[in-house]
Amino acid sequence: MTSTLVTGISELVTCDPTLGDGSPLGIVHKAALVIEDERVAWVGEALHAPATDTQTDLEGRAVIPGFVDSHTHLVFAGERSAEWESRMAGAPYTGGGIATTVAATRAASFEKLRAHTQSLVEQMRAQGTTTIEIKSGYGLDVVHEVLILEVARDFTRETTFLGAHVIPAEYAGDREGYVDLVCGEMLQTCAPFARWIDVFCDTGAFDEAETRRILSAGRGAGLGVRLHGNQLEHGPGVRLAVEFAAASVDHCNHLSDEDVEALAASDVVATLLPGADFSTRAAYANGRRLLDAGVTVAIATDCNPGSAYITSMPLCIALAVREMGLTPAEALYAATRGGARALHREDVGRLSVGAYADLAALDAPSYLHLAYRPGSQLVSQSWRRGTPG
Ligand SMILES: [Zn+2]
Repeated sequence: MTSTLVTGISELVTCDPTLGDGSPLGIVHKAALVIEDERVAWVGEALHAPATDTQTDLEGRAVIPGFVDSHTHLVFAGERSAEWESRMAGAPYTGGGIATTVAATRAASFEKLRAHTQSLVEQMRAQGTTTIEIKSGYGLDVVHEVLILEVARDFTRETTFLGAHVIPAEYAGDREGYVDLVCGEMLQTCAPFARWIDVFCDTGAFDEAETRRILSAGRGAGLGVRLHGNQLEHGPGVRLAVEFAAASVDHCNHLSDEDVEALAASDVVATLLPGADFSTRAAYANGRRLLDAGVTVAIATDCNPGSAYITSMPLCIALAVREMGLTPAEALYAATRGGARALHREDVGRLSVGAYADLAALDAPSYLHLAYRPGSQLVSQSWRRGTPG
């Protein structure tokens, strides 16, 4: 067992309120942290640090937990910049462009998809992300949905079966037939490669009855439940997420008072995707309203080639502060521990004893710089499972 003392930390954000200043971020000033193999073994003021085998001096940098990006669609081929350009000129987002990515993804090899995913994971890692959830949903047939999940499994254990992304063109006249396939052979084939099931429950995608059927089948196959809901218009997504005790309901742009109250009374995390609102020119989800009601909020990138070709959690934090009404502290918490809660994980998203040593050092004295200096490369180094790189 090797132990390393990380010292010279001007501000250590632990996201453990039992530590440091007692705020939700649990901030310790003039801090040090001990990494033992893959995990955090000690945190506190540098003055009291124990002896270790080796030391690293961060020379006054802030340290935060590695970001937990709990909503991505990273495995895909092709790009949709022309569609994005037309949206910037005023065309609405409908989700219809997903078919373009499905065609490109079906035409790509495992190796090509894997290499492309790797490049996106590396971009995310360079910006401080150490845990990533990855969904399928650009295959929409049995062979390609499982292929996407096999690629995703090379990068994360947080894999999500999203066969119910949209109805593929070949089933345009037979919705029920496609839902039968998703709940049957596709689910059986994909479930061994997935931890979660997700449904795009919205206008132009899947309705309430279809969503209920698919989530029930997924739960029956042993998968945890998460949901895309209430993005494009008000619908049953949040209500279903609460009914199914989902880990998370994602987007949450159009919410009734009843939706907010139901979320607050449940353990369902509301995951906000500011990059999607940015790239679709939608009105931003009202994060302030959710937090004031007592809802647990997460922030994720939604990285995908159509509605959010964005790999940067720091950008999402800046947008959440500027456009969704979150304080910088709430946004950082949502991007770390909030994301962990959206994945039912206690071993990531915090820097306290027993957690994985997943951390990012910032070229700044405080985490405030993440939202204060958007677009800057502030992450100077990150560790995942105690390994720098
Ligand atoms: Zn999504």
